[in-house]
Amino acid sequence: MSTSYTWHTPLKYLKGLGPRRAEILEKEAQLSTCGDLLEYYPRKYLDYSRITPIAQALLDQEQVFRGRLGAFRVRISPKRNASLLTTTLYDGTAWMELVWYHQWHWIREQFSENQEVLIIGKPTYKGNTLQLSHPEILPLRSDTDIQKLLAVYPVYPLTEGLRKAGLTHKRFRMIFQELFQSLRLELSDPIPPAIRQRYELMEIRDAYRAMHLPTTLEEAQRATTRFKFQEFFLLQVLLAQRKRLLKSEYTAPAFTHVGPLVEEFYHRHLPFQLTEAQKRVIREIRRDLGQPVPMNRLIQGDVGSGKTIVALFAALIAVGNGYQVALMAPTEVLAEQHARSFRRWLSPMGIPVGLLTGGISAAQRKDILRRLENNELPIIIGTHALYQENVTYARLGLTIIDEQHKFGVRQRALLWEKAHPHRPHNLLMTATPIPRTLALSLYGDVDVSIIDELPPNRQPVKTLVYAHHQRPQAWRLLQEELQKGRQAYIIYPLVEESEKLDLQAVEVGYQEIQKAFPQYKVGMIHGKMSSERKEHEMARFKSGQTQILVGTTVIEVGVDVPNATVLIVEHADRFGLSQLHQLRGRVGRGSHASYAVFIASRDVSEQAEERLRALQTYQDGFKISEIDLKLRGPGDFLGTKQSGLPEFRIADIVEDGEILRAAREAAFTLIEEDPLLQSHPPLQTHLHHYIKRYGLEFFTT
Ligand code: ADP
Ligand code: MG
Repeated sequence: MSTSYTWHTPLKYLKGLGPRRAEILEKEAQLSTCGDLLEYYPRKYLDYSRITPIAQALLDQEQVFRGRLGAFRVRISPKRNASLLTTTLYDGTAWMELVWYHQWHWIREQFSENQEVLIIGKPTYKGNTLQLSHPEILPLRSDTDIQKLLAVYPVYPLTEGLRKAGLTHKRFRMIFQELFQSLRLELSDPIPPAIRQRYELMEIRDAYRAMHLPTTLEEAQRATTRFKFQEFFLLQVLLAQRKRLLKSEYTAPAFTHVGPLVEEFYHRHLPFQLTEAQKRVIREIRRDLGQPVPMNRLIQGDVGSGKTIVALFAALIAVGNGYQVALMAPTEVLAEQHARSFRRWLSPMGIPVGLLTGGISAAQRKDILRRLENNELPIIIGTHALYQENVTYARLGLTIIDEQHKFGVRQRALLWEKAHPHRPHNLLMTATPIPRTLALSLYGDVDVSIIDELPPNRQPVKTLVYAHHQRPQAWRLLQEELQKGRQAYIIYPLVEESEKLDLQAVEVGYQEIQKAFPQYKVGMIHGKMSSERKEHEMARFKSGQTQILVGTTVIEVGVDVPNATVLIVEHADRFGLSQLHQLRGRVGRGSHASYAVFIASRDVSEQAEERLRALQTYQDGFKISEIDLKLRGPGDFLGTKQSGLPEFRIADIVEDGEILRAAREAAFTLIEEDPLLQSHPPLQTHLHHYIKRYGLEFFTT
C-alpha cells in the first residue's frame, strides 16, 4: 500500500516518525501537520558536502569526518555520576575521541569496532586530546550512502527536548526524505507563474524540497529567497487590495469647499508663517478631502516639525463643511496639550473643542457624550476613550491620530467605525520616522506626506553623551541654564518589569535634584499619578512655576515647552535610539540654544555607550530610526506587539529590503490587473489561510 501525504496530514501518520515523536514535535515546536513541517524553516545551512580530514579539523566548527571506529568503552564519569560511552575515530591522517554522555545504548548496539562511519560534530581539545562530544554518527554501508549523506544540511531551531527525543538533524533529513517521496501538495503555488518567471523564483514544491533537502548551498539559498518573497508578497497583496477597497468600496463625505473657517484662521489668527513643507502637506490633505473616497494619509515629520498646525487646518476644513473631527493621542498629557493648543487657536473664532480622556469626571463625560451625539461639538480631542462603545458621533467626518504608531491597527479601525453612513477621512501623524522598508509593510496601503523642514530659527540640539561618573558635568550645565532663566527635564526609564524599582529611582532622583538645586522649584511627573496631578504638574512647568521637571517618558511624546533648554536622560542606555531622539525633541523648541545630555548607567558596556554616540552624530530622525531598527528588530522597534504587522517567519524586514520591494511591485501590479484575483484561485486560497493564521481579518473590512 502506498502512503500519500497532504498538507493537512497529521504528523503521527508520517512513516518513520511515529506517534511519540509526533507528540514531541507538537509540544516543542508547535508542528502538527505535514504542512507545518514544510514551513519549519531552517535557521541556516551547514555545508556537509565535503569531508574534513581529521588532521585538518577546525576547532569549534561543525564538520564532517569519515573514518573507522575504535573499541567502545563504557566509563563512569565521577563528576556526573553517570556512565558514558567513548570510542575513537581514525581516518588515516589522525585520530580523535568520541564521547556520548547519555542516550548512547543504541550506538553501542548498532555500531561496532572497525566500522566505517560518518561523524558530524564540533571538535574541541580536552587536555591534549581532540574530542567530539555527542557527535551525530551515520553508518556507511556503500558508496551510495556517502552520496546520500554528504549534503547540505539544514539547521533547525532544535530544542533540548527535540534532541533528547532523537529528533536530530539526521532524523529530520530522513523524515523529509519520506515526506517528499509521497507528498501530494493540494495547495498549489500562491505566486502566479508569470510573477515566478519574472522574478526568477522557484516553484513551491521544488522550493520546499530545496529548502529541506538541498543538494547545494546555492539551491537552498534560492529556495529561501522564494519563501521570503512569498511572505512579503502575501502581505503586500493584502495591502494593495485594502488600498483599492478603501478607495473603491467606501465613500467619504467630499469636503468640496475649503470653507470660511480656513480663510478666517489663515488671514486673522495664524500665529506664525507656515513653512513650505507645512503648506505642501496641507495642500495634499486638502486635495484628498475634496474627494468622496476616504483619505488615508500619514504625515511623517521629525519632532518639532509642526504637525499640529497641519492637523488644525485639516480639522477646519472638515468643520467648515459641517462635519465633526476626532483627534486621538496616545497619552492624556498629550491629548490635554492638543486641546489647549486647539482651544487657544480656535477660541477667537468661537469653535468649541471638547476633551475626552479617562481622567475627566463622570459629569463632564456625560456632557461631552451628549454634545457629540447631538452634533453640538465639532472637535473632540482625547485618548482611547474616543472609540469606546458608548461614544456616538453625529457626523464624524475626519479622524486624526497623533503618534499613530502607539496605536494598533485595530484600535485605529475602531475609531473609524464610529462614522456613518460614510467612512471618515483619516489623517495619521507620527514623529517616529519609520525606515522605508518597515513603512512599506506597516503602511503599505497608506499615502505618505513628509514634513522635511523645521520651522525657522530652530537651533540644533547639542547632544552630549556622558558616562555615569560624568554626571557633575551635566549638573553644571543644568545650573548655568537655570541661571539664564531656562527650564529643564530630567528623565528616568520606566519599564513594567521593574516598575517598582524604576519609580523608586524617579523619587530618589527627584529628592537629589531638590537638594542640589534648593533655589529652584522641582516638579515630578510619572504615569502612575492621577491625570489631574499630571496635568497640574505639566501646567506648573509650562507656566514656569517649576523650573525642573523630573519624570518618566510620559513627557516623551509631543510635549511642547519652548523655554525648556536642557534635557537630561538618566540610564540612557536603557532607551531605544528612536525614543531618545523623541525625547531630545522636547528641547530646542524655542529660539534658545538647547542641550540633550544622555547619561549612561554605571555598569554599562562601552558598546552601549557607543550606540548612544549615534545620537551625537545624527540629528535626522530617519537616519536614527534606521540604525535603531537594525539594532533592535521590528518588534522592539515599534515598541508594541499590537502594531498589526504579522510576524515574518523567514523574511527579515531590515536585511531583505530588496526582496520586499520586488514583492511589493509584483503585488500592486497584480491587484491593478486583477483586483479580485479572479484568475488566481491558488493565491486566493493562500490569502485566506494567511489572514486566518495571523488574525488579519480587519484588513479586509
Ligand atoms: P510636532 O511636529 O513635533 O508635533 P508641533 O506641532 O508641536 O511639532 O510644533 C512644535 C512647535 O513649533 C510648536 O510650538 C509650534 O507652535 C511651533 N511651530 C509649528 N510650525 C511653526 C512655524 N511654521 N513657524 C514657527 N513655529 C512653528
Ligand atoms: Mg506632535
